[in-house]
Amino acid sequence: MKKKISPKEFYESIYRELDSVTPLKVDCGKLCDNACCVVTDEITGMYLFPFEETMYSPIPEWGKIYDTDFVCKSGREINLFTCQGTCDREKRPLSCRIFPLIPRVEKDGSFTLVMDPRGREMCPLCKVMRVDELDADFVKTVEKVMKKCMLVKECRDFLCSLSEEIFF
Ligand code: SF4
Ligand code: SF4
Repeated sequence: MKKKISPKEFYESIYRELDSVTPLKVDCGKLCDNACCVVTDEITGMYLFPFEETMYSPIPEWGKIYDTDFVCKSGREINLFTCQGTCDREKRPLSCRIFPLIPRVEKDGSFTLVMDPRGREMCPLCKVMRVDELDADFVKTVEKVMKKCMLVKECRDFLCSLSEEIFF
């Protein structure tokens, strides 16, 4: 029988998979002064995947978790993780690790990775690049990780609900 892994083990393993890949082979933060990490007056941040809060207990001094009004189709409420523009890179949330990609989940549950339309205003990659112009290892790893997430009921619910909010 396959051993059931805890949410913490699940996220630790996919964090590790994404540790060594980045959207470009060069540091894209140099193109935009790390625009996706800039702190503004508004509360902005990254959605946490279901149970990802387990990775932030205790909450690190560089982060905060807020409630949001984003509710999944199942009724699950999604939290927002915010930082002060810097983080312990090994502990950054999954949403930071996959940006600027996002899975667009169709009604039949299939998905395609696309450039995240929420990043168009601030991310030069979202503005001018296509998915196939990003680093191939990055795209492949994000796809692999998103496939794993889609096998977890709660994460599938989150990603389907997020697609409905962003794309449909
Ligand atoms: S905003 Fe886009 S280009 Fe800039 S660091 Fe983030 S992912 Fe890279
Ligand atoms: S947690 Fe790290 S990667 Fe994510 S927005 Fe903050 S500084 Fe950027």
